Amino acid sequence: MLRTSSPILAPIREKIEAGERLSFDDGLVLESPEVALPELGELANLVRERKNGNAGYYNINTHLNPTNICLYRCTFCAFRSDLRDPKGYWMNDEQVLARGQEAVDNGCTELHIVGGLHHQAKYDWYRQVVQVLHDAYPTLHLKAWTPVEIDWFCRLTKKPVRWVLEDMIEAGLGSLPGGGAEIFHPEVRNQICEHKADSRRWFETHREAHALGLRSNCTMLYGHIEQPYHRIDHLVRLRELQDETKGFQTFIPLAFHPENTKLGAERNITKPSALVDLRQMAIARLMLDNIDHIKAYWIMLGIETAQISLAYGADDIDGTVRHELIYHDAGATTPEVMSVADIEQVIREAGRDPIERDTLYHRVERSAAGWRAAEAITAGA
Ligand code: SF4
Repeated sequence: MLRTSSPILAPIREKIEAGERLSFDDGLVLESPEVALPELGELANLVRERKNGNAGYYNINTHLNPTNICLYRCTFCAFRSDLRDPKGYWMNDEQVLARGQEAVDNGCTELHIVGGLHHQAKYDWYRQVVQVLHDAYPTLHLKAWTPVEIDWFCRLTKKPVRWVLEDMIEAGLGSLPGGGAEIFHPEVRNQICEHKADSRRWFETHREAHALGLRSNCTMLYGHIEQPYHRIDHLVRLRELQDETKGFQTFIPLAFHPENTKLGAERNITKPSALVDLRQMAIARLMLDNIDHIKAYWIMLGIETAQISLAYGADDIDGTVRHELIYHDAGATTPEVMSVADIEQVIREAGRDPIERDTLYHRVERSAAGWRAAEAITAGA
């Protein structure tokens, strides 16, 4: 039984209780400061428990950013480097393989691979990153390349998206991460990342990936110059593709971290508060009725906010993570890795049951011999 809500929320509460889809205008209401955050959280929690019960999912993973040298200059990015900047790096096969070995040694099921667009790197180098890892560590799931990178590979090869995806699958690609989405609406996108793949290309890439049987994630970067209607527009666009393909597994709301970024400095932007983070988590859970999982990425949110998020719509807090650079370059003060014991404790403290999953949402069973993917996790309505 839900508590009484503010009058403005009453019709939306009825829809949620009835399992009906919320409209764009409903989304704008959820964004209104008149809607109290605890009420929003309570509704999001209702949906979250319908879909995922008391589960708190996590995985054991490692990040690999094979280069930070990037010819683009997204104004929100603190990770990228110029070629001659001392901060710049470009990994060779040996370094890439060392990261794979470290992942396997630490029981990882997944490598999350994204990076810069190095203008001197040929397509074959990007393909080789996937190929050498897959050949050496075939049980490691390679979740690699955002549509921004796939678009760059299309330019390098002069081939269509489908060709690049098929070629990467042949090399060992397992799924796509959710990055590069930022904010789809051109009023914002043209100001913060005007050069990189636009929303049409982003959706084309995920549509093609889903058609080829790949699963993928999706994200939204909030807390900078966007307005509420830009965020709701973003969520509705994701929901529409999901209606069509059902290929998204998880949505990850990503808070903008302004430190060391042009956007943060020029617009004098501060990092979103925990209350803003929780509101975005809850709104995402309520609007994205056809996406099974909502992830509270603890690296970006901080551990405490990620824990509270498990009562505000989220059912997953990502992984143990290792070698995270993108948010730490932008000032994140979270640890760079969390142990399995710690991550399970974080979930238990939030009142949820910790469940290790693999990238494709199978329960992971571990034994002295290693790990295996058990049954698929199926979310409810
Ligand atoms: S967000 Fe990605 S594409 Fe944009 S500058 Fe940073 S590394 Fe390059």
